[in-house]
Amino acid sequence: MSVLIVGSIGIDSVKTPFGEASDVLGGSAVYASVSSSFFNKAFIISVVGSDFPDEYMELLKSYEIDITGVEKIPGQTFRWKGYYTYELNEAKTLETQLNVLSEFDPVLPDSYRNLQDPHIFLANIDPDLQIKVLDQIKNPELVVLDTMNYWIENKPESLKEAMSKVDVMVLNDGEARELTGEPNLVKASTKIRELGPKRVIIKKGEHGALMFSDDSIFSAPAYPLEFIFDPTGAGDTFAGGLIGYLSDVHGNKEEDYRKAVIFGSAMASFVVEDFSLERMKILTWDDIKERYYQFKTLSHFELI
Ligand code: AMP
Repeated sequence: MSVLIVGSIGIDSVKTPFGEASDVLGGSAVYASVSSSFFNKAFIISVVGSDFPDEYMELLKSYEIDITGVEKIPGQTFRWKGYYTYELNEAKTLETQLNVLSEFDPVLPDSYRNLQDPHIFLANIDPDLQIKVLDQIKNPELVVLDTMNYWIENKPESLKEAMSKVDVMVLNDGEARELTGEPNLVKASTKIRELGPKRVIIKKGEHGALMFSDDSIFSAPAYPLEFIFDPTGAGDTFAGGLIGYLSDVHGNKEEDYRKAVIFGSAMASFVVEDFSLERMKILTWDDIKERYYQFKTLSHFELI
């Protein structure tokens, strides 16, 4: 089993109340694939410009991520500039330069087309590109979709089409409200599920995540961290852990999804401890397992 991820690869400049980082590696496909690679082999489809530093490519390779599907074309790499206030749940975008992303026409390499029943993560990127990639895959085992306010506002119709083709959608609370025009998250999740995905996971930053399906609601806590330096990539890292775990165990039952949400939350709780991918560079499987168990203790209580 494998995880195929389409999303952005970018150069980020981020400011938080605790510091700032300029021109660091970012992008939804980067965070998601690094997270997913702790569970299973990840394959990226994306694009970078001729200015993209080799050392960033090398970093992805060091996680044994397959980058055959990453095209390098003349022009500038996608760039995102943002900041966070003490309200760390919401990134404020200062600048989005799509650059080479706006001319990207994804064509899957043969080695990707031949993957056996892959799990697909349509990470945050133009929904038209998400659809183009999905249309090239014959028998996906599971398709998970993410997006952000930028695409909800700029490409609402394409986003709806993408939603009609996927099994699971992950998005944060603000995006769920904006997408549906519904302030109540339970009602918003129902509206989203009416548009296609059978399962919806709404992330609430430091307040955890809610997962909705036909017959159940699961509430996962967030790990109470003492130090959060940079929330950038938390959502993609969450989704990478979720889909990585599901592909590893080949699971599709409610119990599998619940464990996957906790693994996703555990992975996200690490990435925010430092800027860019710094924390992920020293992360070990023992760290992940230990935090998974801490999640269990965190919300366990006896029945009366
Ligand atoms: P998140 O997990 O939501 O914090 O995602 C953060 C990443 O999303 C950053 O590393 C950005 O490079 C990337 N990003 C920001 N805006 C966009 C966009 N409009 N399309 C694709 N990726 C984006």
